[in-house]
Amino acid sequence: MIYADYNATAPLRDEARRAMLVALDAGANPSSVHAPGRAARKILETARRQVATAVGGIASDVIFTSGGTEAIALAIHGAVAKLDGDCTLIVSAIEHEASAKNAGFANVPVETTYVLPTGEVDLNALSDRLKAWDTSRSGTPILVLMLANNETGVIQPVTEAASLVREAGGLTICDGVQGLGKLPVNVSLLGVDYLTLSAHKAGGPQGAGALWLRSGAPLKAKLHGGGQERSLRSGTENLSGIAGFGAAAEAAVTDLPAMEGLAALRDAMEQRLKAEGQVTVFGEQAKRLPNTSNFAIEGFRAETQVMAMDLAGVAVSSGSACSSGKVKRSLVLSAMGAPDSLAECAIRTSYGWKTKQEDFDLTADAWLEAARRRKLKETA
Ligand code: PLP
Repeated sequence: MIYADYNATAPLRDEARRAMLVALDAGANPSSVHAPGRAARKILETARRQVATAVGGIASDVIFTSGGTEAIALAIHGAVAKLDGDCTLIVSAIEHEASAKNAGFANVPVETTYVLPTGEVDLNALSDRLKAWDTSRSGTPILVLMLANNETGVIQPVTEAASLVREAGGLTICDGVQGLGKLPVNVSLLGVDYLTLSAHKAGGPQGAGALWLRSGAPLKAKLHGGGQERSLRSGTENLSGIAGFGAAAEAAVTDLPAMEGLAALRDAMEQRLKAEGQVTVFGEQAKRLPNTSNFAIEGFRAETQVMAMDLAGVAVSSGSACSSGKVKRSLVLSAMGAPDSLAECAIRTSYGWKTKQEDFDLTADAWLEAARRRKLKETA
């Protein structure tokens, strides 16, 4: 089977598996003061340093969570609560549901910032909105903008957007889940106040994530209890998951050159697909993650393609990763201006650390064969 669904979950890296086994055997609570507890604490703090280093930050600014969704929820609700609700969330139209839905439940006004047909957030529109910002009426502006889109791979101009927001006296929450291990991530260069991460997108285990928080950025805890994670996220830490996360983050950053090398193979695959017919590649005019390709051909429904590819031994997804299985039209592609008839026909292939060069050829072979059969059926 060729696995081409890394943006949903990347296969576990060997480094992560090894670190997890050591952590599972630690058998103690990292908050305990005895020697086994201190050994568990050491594992936890090593992972914190690894995750912080992977995003150019310092360990004391990393708060571990149960994954990307919880990190996003903590950033949004925690910032809003600390500001006593005197704020407005500006959410990009292509955010993952974790951001869009948590913003919707935050009990403060939410504005949408739109994207260009390229899939990149419209910086001019954002700038105009922020220039007209009236803090006495709308409170602090909080921008929620992802680093790279999970469906199209389009990389967002986060540094530029965060700078506009900072000038307007606001804060930026960046969902970095799809960025880690796929492009260089540096919190200082991004200039954001909050960065959310998830282990399983970078070759770590599912169920571990982190919120990097700029020192001094407002945040109120949402989960109360034993005071772990500087009392910002109580609950005994998922030590093995976090150890796997740390090891995966470190390995993913070391592997960045190999990841970047996937772009040329991805582009060649897209050329082959496009040579055969009216294939649209979403986001191809913008800077994209090197591993992602989202394409469609009118009339060939996504679910049919996913099934045909599965039968041919290639695992791909349709629409958004987290909603695979419950196929629905992509809001991201609609936000980019794709007509419904085309958005319904989009599939996403995404690759990563285990991918071999021939996987791209075999993906193209399988898809071209499926498209040929569909044409035959149509003309029969
Ligand atoms: N943000 C993006 C861009 C994602 O792709 C995902 C998962 O698909 C998430 C957030 C949620 O992360 P997690 O699965 O760790 O909760």
